[in-house]
Amino acid sequence: MQKNKVLVIGGAGYIGSHVVRALLKNDFAVTVYDNLSTGQECNLFADAQFIRGDILDFQMLRQTMSEGYDAVVHLAAKKAVGESMDNPQKYALNNLNGSVNIFNAMIETGIKNVVFSSSAAVFGMPQYMPVDEQHPVCPINFYGYTKLKIEELMDWYSRLKDFHYIALRYFNAVGYAADGSIKGREKNPQNLLPIVMEVATGKRQKMQVFGNDYDTPDGTCVRDYIHVEDLASAHVAAIRQLLQKGDSHVINLGTNKGTSVLEIIEAVERVTGRKIAYEFAPRRAGDPAILVATNQKAQKVLNWQPDYVNIDEIIQTTWNLEVK
Ligand code: UDP
Repeated sequence: MQKNKVLVIGGAGYIGSHVVRALLKNDFAVTVYDNLSTGQECNLFADAQFIRGDILDFQMLRQTMSEGYDAVVHLAAKKAVGESMDNPQKYALNNLNGSVNIFNAMIETGIKNVVFSSSAAVFGMPQYMPVDEQHPVCPINFYGYTKLKIEELMDWYSRLKDFHYIALRYFNAVGYAADGSIKGREKNPQNLLPIVMEVATGKRQKMQVFGNDYDTPDGTCVRDYIHVEDLASAHVAAIRQLLQKGDSHVINLGTNKGTSVLEIIEAVERVTGRKIAYEFAPRRAGDPAILVATNQKAQKVLNWQPDYVNIDEIIQTTWNLEVK
């Protein structure tokens, strides 16, 4: 039987490379399209074709897509929240214009299906917990605004054209493929777990915990940490769903479970056997106290659920990279 062909745009990045790995394991024919601005060559797989290209280069996108694909996975975006507030032009150009280019090139070349990496950042300050897909959207940073606008654009295109999409709203992605096949660590990480890891390895002396006066059990922020391999398997399920049924959806991807910043630090100490030096610092602007997903819709529509439910196991997959 002929393999289904998938174009993974942003496939050399942290989440993208895990998606490529999962697609290859599930017998898809994969092409990666990435400009390697934040993606890394060491995240590429020999079994996937690689095209170095930019999403702002419409001609190249169209030429690439004219090879014919059953689906596109679109993960190419700028994603640093703080930077998006300082330099919204960069985020408008890359995230908004880049997405318009991708979807327009799909329509011109007859590709009907796209899985899009959206974010819990579309919700802004949550009004109730856990957050379901009906929760009002009201981003409070420019990054989240771009993700919401792209969701809306896809919704319009799905009404006007033969265009089908699944937007996956990631909560906090963490961990690495347990087999160590993906090695590319992010440079200048901004997220909690890579920062705690840098303290564990001695690359950083001390870290800051942003706020210990939240209305949470230990006063620190609670998030829904989902293993990147579980995120990746949801993309495979989303492509299958699009190929079989073609209905468009917006779906939250989380674990239904919250973990506080201090609980993450304690878990890293347990897994690594090392002491993590930290200090309490003022709250970070725009941080909600608690952000946890319900993944009922993902279970129902994608027949998906996370395999990793234990935070120590998740952290172990990150630590493996450091000790190997
Ligand atoms: N955080 C922290 N210190 C850091 C980085 C993050 O205390 O050096 C906290 C942050 O305030 C938030 C949680 O860790 O409550 C997760 O932050 P991250 O930036 O990883 O993801 P976000 O939830 O903002 O998408």
